[in-house]
Amino acid sequence: MKTVVVAGGAGFIGSHLCEFLLKKGEKVICIDDLSTGDKKNIEPLMNNGNFVFMQQDITEPFSLRDDVAQVFNLASPASPIDYQKKPIKTLMVGAMGTKNCLDLAKNKNASFLQASTSEIYGDPLEHPQVESYWGNVNPIGVRSCYDEAKRFGEALVMAYRRKFNLDTKIARIFNTYGPRMRYDDGRVVPNLIFQALNKKPLTVYGNGEQTRSFCYVSDMVEGLTALMNSSTNEPVNLGNPNEMTIAEFANKVIELTGIDSKIENKPLPEDDPLKRKPNISKAKELLGWEPKIVLDVGLQKTIDWFASIKK
Ligand code: UDP
Repeated sequence: MKTVVVAGGAGFIGSHLCEFLLKKGEKVICIDDLSTGDKKNIEPLMNNGNFVFMQQDITEPFSLRDDVAQVFNLASPASPIDYQKKPIKTLMVGAMGTKNCLDLAKNKNASFLQASTSEIYGDPLEHPQVESYWGNVNPIGVRSCYDEAKRFGEALVMAYRRKFNLDTKIARIFNTYGPRMRYDDGRVVPNLIFQALNKKPLTVYGNGEQTRSFCYVSDMVEGLTALMNSSTNEPVNLGNPNEMTIAEFANKVIELTGIDSKIENKPLPEDDPLKRKPNISKAKELLGWEPKIVLDVGLQKTIDWFASIKK
């Protein structure tokens, strides 16, 4: 049995990762300050003797007594609404938070995985996005607090790797969805499902021609663990290359909920990337990983979950 630390373990992807690791028989220490995560996400894990929850802001120094084999750093506000509400905190989480987690891995001689993001490509001029692309980020725009925090995070990880020979991994996570997304985090998946279930119009920003590619959370968790357990230290894109326009996505929500809501167009937010689709050749080749859950199946599970917690 290994001890694995998951920073951000009470969040959406983090809580699924904790559950997956426990099922594999690992001991899990979940660190979260519950600022955007939710204790409800980990409530079912609390009775498991191999699960420890530590309420801790990772921008503050912390230490652990246990031996640790792996550190996953998923702690950060991650939805555009959340990070734009807390821009300074988001920058500090990417900087000091990542440093504190890297120091933990260094002190414990543990492997370290940084949850990075497709946002480091900004509004991409290359499509689909390959890991070798350096991106097109507005460094002073409203999304820069997140994009630059995550770019700084990658730079810090590489500095620890070069300076201390730490075993580091960088996962560039593309849009991920599934149960336990916060209904009010402002992202397109919870917004549109929640609106449909409440028989409200679906808000499509701009003309809806911008694209995203949505990956179901169980596929993402498998990708993250495959990367952590691999020997690669290069950044790897993790996501589902099934690209669609937001208008198509809205129609899919209408079809699967069976609720004939209208579409209401709203202004496109500043610096909203027009296109996003991962090239996942590297993940396929190096990790033998690719997503398995098609959108209709994953979205139906997500809709059913939102219906079960309906507010
Ligand atoms: N979006 C939308 N309606 C909403 C929320 C988001 O049309 O109610 C759009 C948003 O403008 C973006 C895409 O959906 O083009 C994905 O947005 P999200 O906030 O989920 O995450 P992002 O991929 O931009 O980080």
